[in-house]
Amino acid sequence: MNIYDELNLKKLINAAGTYTVIGGSKMSETTLDKMNEAARSNVEIKELQNAIHNRLAALTNNESCVISAGAIVGIYLCLASAISMKYKKQFKHLTKSEIEKAEIIMFKAHRNPYDRSIGLIGCKLIELGFANTIDIVDEETFEQAFTENTCAVFYLPSSEGGWVAPGALDLKTTIQVSKKHHVPVIVDAAAQLPPKSNLWHFTKELGADAVVFSGGKYLKGPQSTGVILGKKDLLDWVSRHNFPNYDIGRMHKISREELVGIYNAVKEYVLSDEEEEGNQATWIVNDLIQEFDKSNCFIFESSYPNEAGQPMPRAKMIIQSSKINVELVRDYLLSKENPIYTKIDNGYIYINPMMLSLEEYKIVKASLLELQEELK
Ligand SMILES: *Cc1c(COP(=O)(O)O)cnc(C)c1O
Repeated sequence: MNIYDELNLKKLINAAGTYTVIGGSKMSETTLDKMNEAARSNVEIKELQNAIHNRLAALTNNESCVISAGAIVGIYLCLASAISMKYKKQFKHLTKSEIEKAEIIMFKAHRNPYDRSIGLIGCKLIELGFANTIDIVDEETFEQAFTENTCAVFYLPSSEGGWVAPGALDLKTTIQVSKKHHVPVIVDAAAQLPPKSNLWHFTKELGADAVVFSGGKYLKGPQSTGVILGKKDLLDWVSRHNFPNYDIGRMHKISREELVGIYNAVKEYVLSDEEEEGNQATWIVNDLIQEFDKSNCFIFESSYPNEAGQPMPRAKMIIQSSKINVELVRDYLLSKENPIYTKIDNGYIYINPMMLSLEEYKIVKASLLELQEELK
C-alpha cells in the first residue's frame, strides 16, 4: 500500500510552485536512488561533507560550498560565522557581550518572515531605511552605518516582479562599500534559481562573500537542505560551526542521505537544459491561453516573471463568469480525485507550470475543462 494511502492523505498535483507548505519540489528518480544507496552504508560524515562540498564548489564556479539544513540555517550560520571571523574565535568561545555588541546591517526593505534566524544570533541588527520608495537608502547613508563593530551585511536581492519591497541600496554598491570596510556581504537568494548563472553571479561576478539557496525549491534536492556558496575564508568558519562539530550548527543536523541527495540534485541542475525547461513552461501557459480563448467562464493570460521573480511564466486566470470566484476555483481544483494545488496571488488564481510534468498538466487541463462544462 502506498504510504500516503496508509496515512489517509491525498497526493497533490503542484500547480503552485516550490512552496514549502506542500513539500517544495519533487526529487528526480536518480536523486532518490542515490539517497537510497547512501542510506544503506555508513560513512565518515566529515569526509562525505568534504567530498561533496569540494565537488559542488567546482561545479558552481565558487571557491567553497557548505550544505546546510535549509537556506534559513545557511543564512544563520553565515552571519554568525562573520562575527567569529571578525573576533577570530569560534562562536562557542565568544562571550555574551562580544556577541551582543556585534552588528549586522540590513535594509528595512529586506525584513521578511524568514529572517527570524538572524535574531537568534543575539547580536545587534542595524536596520536602514524604509520598505518603500519615499527615501531610498543612498550610498552615504549606508556608508555611515558602518562602525568598528560591524561584522556583516545581509542582503535579500530582488528580481523584477518579485516580492521584495523597494527602499534598499542596490547590491553592487552595497558590496563595493562593504568591501572598503572589509565587511562580508551575505546574500539570501533562496528562491533565485533559475537562472542557473545565479549560482555564481552573486559571488564570483558581483563579489558577495556568500550566497544561500534553498535545496528544496528549484534545485529539486531534499527539502530540508540549503546550499551555501562563496569565499573560502568565511565558509571555513561556517564549516567549523557546522554539524557534526560541537558548535551552533550541531542542532541543524543533515543526514548522509540528504547530503548525497542535494549533491546529486545540484549536479543534475548544473547539467540540465534550462532552455528546454523554460520552453515547456511557456508551452503549458500558451496551451491554456489557446484552449480557453473563447471561454465565457475563464480565460488565461501569460504573467511573467512569477511571484518570486523567477524568469518563468505563469498562467493568470481571468474569470469571466459571475457564477464563480477565485476561492471557488481553488476549492474545485482541490476537490478533484487528483487534488490540484494552486495559489491565489493578488486576487488572481495562477497555474504555475514550474513544477508540473506534462502528465500532470494533462490532469490540470482536464479538470479545468470539467469546471467549464459544469458552468455551462
Ligand atoms: C524559501 C526562502 C527561504 C527559506 O528557505 P529554506 O530552504 O526553506 O530554509 C529563505 N529566504 C527566502 C527569500 C526564501 O524564498
